[in-house]
Amino acid sequence: MEQQLSPGLYIVATPIGNLGDITLRAIDTLRGAAAIACEDTRITGKLLHHLGLEKRMIRYDDHAGENDRARLLALAAEAPVALVSDAGTPLISDPGFRLVRAAREAGIAVTSLPGPSAAVVALTLSGLPSDRFLFAGFLPAKDKARRDTLAELAAVPATLVFYETAPRLDDALAAIGEVLAGREVAVARELTKKFEECRSGPAADLAAHYRAHPPKGEIVLLVGPPVAAPASAADADALLRAELATAKPSQAAARVARATGLDRKMLYARALELK
Ligand code: SAM
Repeated sequence: MEQQLSPGLYIVATPIGNLGDITLRAIDTLRGAAAIACEDTRITGKLLHHLGLEKRMIRYDDHAGENDRARLLALAAEAPVALVSDAGTPLISDPGFRLVRAAREAGIAVTSLPGPSAAVVALTLSGLPSDRFLFAGFLPAKDKARRDTLAELAAVPATLVFYETAPRLDDALAAIGEVLAGREVAVARELTKKFEECRSGPAADLAAHYRAHPPKGEIVLLVGPPVAAPASAADADALLRAELATAKPSQAAARVARATGLDRKMLYARALELK
């Protein structure tokens, strides 16, 4: 029997690969919705077909503007409207934020149905600390912007979680190896699908592996928290010496500062002494 839903906007998470990962509540809500707002009607059409549903679909993607939102919200004021993305949780590196904000401002009821999101699946699989994490979406495609973003996040005492694409993995690992030197990295690929894998280790080892085995499919990249500050001055010296083998004192100091949280100026002065 069809579920009677009250009018409003329903944010519905959908599978990120394995079609079994849809909740009973998500299915009931899609069945009861008057319309489904989606990024790509072909992709959502396949999910609906799998669920045996035929529904009115309204395109709502990255290019949606004020008029698209106004139209959807006028409908949601009168009837239940579901919002889905191509995969996973809407709004998480996917469209929907402006729509939810506008719905709340307009006094339209908003309900969010929890379900899969690649960031959380990767975090739970990676073996990296999960007590604190920072999800930072996609890293920028350009090298300087990517390195600036990593440097900005370097001191955050948490596991960092990024979405990445296969063609950019090599560049991203190279930047992480330099800007976030010494930290454990994980690559989680094709989550919930047949060729799911999760590899962890130093960025350079992962880069070497994926150069030999070019990755396919979808990727989440994770970086463990900054390593604990060295217990003694001798430990800091050892890290500085290792970096000075390939880098100038200023670079060595910057890398050790990022890895340990120790003061960069103090490390620079020490690097000059050690050089
Ligand atoms: N809203 C989605 C979510 O909640 O996970 C994310 C959408 S974002 C446009 C797409 C990115 O998510 C991909 O480029 C990849 O980085 C990541 N992703 C999605 N599905 C994945 C999967 N099955 N395995 C690994 N990464 C995935």
